[in-house]
Amino acid sequence: MDIPRIFTITESAHRIHDPFSPAKLATLGAALRLEPGARVLDLGCGSGEMLCTWARDHGIVGTGVDLSELFTRQAKLRAEELGVADRVRFIHGDAAGFVLDEKADVAACVGATWIGGGAAGTIELLAQSLRGGGIILIGEPFWRQLPPTEEVAKGCGAGSVADFLVLPELLASFGRLGYDVVEMVLADQDDWDRYEAAKWLTMRRWLEANPDDEFAAEVRAQLTAEPARYAAFTREYLGWGVFALMPR
Ligand code: SAH
Repeated sequence: MDIPRIFTITESAHRIHDPFSPAKLATLGAALRLEPGARVLDLGCGSGEMLCTWARDHGIVGTGVDLSELFTRQAKLRAEELGVADRVRFIHGDAAGFVLDEKADVAACVGATWIGGGAAGTIELLAQSLRGGGIILIGEPFWRQLPPTEEVAKGCGAGSVADFLVLPELLASFGRLGYDVVEMVLADQDDWDRYEAAKWLTMRRWLEANPDDEFAAEVRAQLTAEPARYAAFTREYLGWGVFALMPR
């Protein structure tokens, strides 16, 4: 059981698998006013950078679940590197339906809300692990500018314009689910560059090391097309942020 291999290739050198810089991750951790010992759950935790750095900087304890064997392994190594292996645990597996026995102060799903079948379902899932007064974190894309055509939406990697909302509508949608938005940290275009452009050098190096791999043609095609596609579409139209929610 694992994620499609193309992600493991293009994001093998990423510590953060979303358009957040280390500085934004730190800003978010500070914004949440985390207490030492706070329990944090992270579904689709990737390489564990959020839990590991917050354990180091704020003394949280954490549980991360991720379907990628590689990313889970990287998360465990990162915990050791930062000296927090006794505070965070990483579980390799499907996070769909995952509920903690001991309720969390913060329950997060950052850039992986398909785990609960979309933002609403993921919020419902996370709420099952949340203590009263706790905070849910949801990392989601939104339209920075509404695409003028369906072609532009597809250029951004979306199925259609209807896949995402503009920011005011996204914030209002959390309200309709019965949640207050109590904080947010948004990615800017430089943060997007760190996520997307970092894949290009990884792909280039991978191609040099693996010219005969069965994925080589696919990776070559992506590397050829991605910079111009990204600059024309994703960078201009797609926003991304992490939203902190508390039930009303
Ligand atoms: N939250 C992390 C990773 C976001 S990328 C970060 O911000 O860095 C999306 C992650 O979801 C990937 O690490 C992928 O392996 C994981 N994933 C995809 N489907 C999953 C599932 N069903 N259960 C758990 N993790 C999943």
